[in-house]
Amino acid sequence: MEKIGRFGDFGGQYVPETVMNAVTELQEAYERYRNDPQFLAELHDLYRNYAFRPSLLYYAEKMTKDLGGAKIYIKREDLNHTGSHKINNALGQVLLAKYMGKKRIIAETGAGQHGVATATICAYFDMECEVYMGREDMERQALNVYRMELLGAKVTGVDSGTKTLKDAINEAMRDWATNIETTFYCIGSVMGPHPYPTMVRDFQKIIGEEAKAQLMEKEGKLPDCVVACVGGGSNAMGIFYDFIPDKGVRLVGAEAAGRGIDTPDHAATLSKGDLGIFHGMKSVFLQNDEGQIAPVFSISAGLDYPGIGPEHAYLHSTGRADYVAITDEEAVQAFEYLSKTEGIIPAVESAHAVAAARKIAPTMRPDQIMIINLSGRGDKDVQQIARYRGVKIDG
Ligand SMILES: *Cc1c(COP(=O)(O)O)cnc(C)c1O
Repeated sequence: MEKIGRFGDFGGQYVPETVMNAVTELQEAYERYRNDPQFLAELHDLYRNYAFRPSLLYYAEKMTKDLGGAKIYIKREDLNHTGSHKINNALGQVLLAKYMGKKRIIAETGAGQHGVATATICAYFDMECEVYMGREDMERQALNVYRMELLGAKVTGVDSGTKTLKDAINEAMRDWATNIETTFYCIGSVMGPHPYPTMVRDFQKIIGEEAKAQLMEKEGKLPDCVVACVGGGSNAMGIFYDFIPDKGVRLVGAEAAGRGIDTPDHAATLSKGDLGIFHGMKSVFLQNDEGQIAPVFSISAGLDYPGIGPEHAYLHSTGRADYVAITDEEAVQAFEYLSKTEGIIPAVESAHAVAAARKIAPTMRPDQIMIINLSGRGDKDVQQIARYRGVKIDG
């Protein structure tokens, strides 16, 4: 029997029987609509007229001159409505929910970025929205909690486990299984049981399709290297996907090394993780010796997940993509660097990609081209970076 939703041996549908009905219904609905002309037309209309796509492909001339290697372009997902790539996926899933006749959307959120994107689309579509968030994260991200409430969503605190993202996902799964008739679970990255990793990648692949066409128009050729940060992996899959068949294009993912991959405080899944099954998928996870999910650490809340989407685990295992680990200090330096050289304040997640680019670009020739995916804008991170640098900005 052919295995469903696999990338090599990774992926699959490892869920309890209680969740399987919901997963199967979603899988059938996605198969029905993923190539439906009306669904796709409506999605692309929303990309354009609500999310503000296509996003710019920006020539980073000063960074290019400063680094003295590859010609650098930046894909500006930070300019999307709500300030990151997350809106692409939230639009796709909530639109699918509408086609399925669901009235209620639930989501998990860690830092609050995916929760805000989902609450935004639910406001636009007049849908009921409930966002699960670890109690710990609610305290750290109080502003985003209020933002979601402002958008009409209900934010429900999760008190189990470490009271963070992974526990919020567990709680959302439980709600979904219980309320399958009315409810659609909108997952925030290329993770979870099939069809999520495929579906979320499909809603994000517009990033790479646009980037390829835009670069063709400007340079008449493909890039030599594409760099993106990796948490669950959705912005990276989004920009990588269209380039996978183009073997000459090097794909590089930057994961969070936190205080260093030789300390316990990091989120560098592919550097230090092992094969496992969690949140409905077979993939690579940070685990202790008993196989329990390990605590993770990164300055960037969006990269703070103890696993990675199964398609990345596959690209890593086949060598089609390379993954590098970037420390907090390197990310903060890249955050400051892009702000000063190009006048663009990146999300601290995206700064991990900029840091990787700063290492790789100088090793490339001036006739070669690199694209950096700038997954989001950094306004949300300014206060935290100031604190990291010991700068007092309040009171
Ligand atoms: C959530 C987030 C990420 C990490 O998620 P992926 O699924 O790995 O893309 C990266 N950048 C920004 C700006 C985010 O909000």
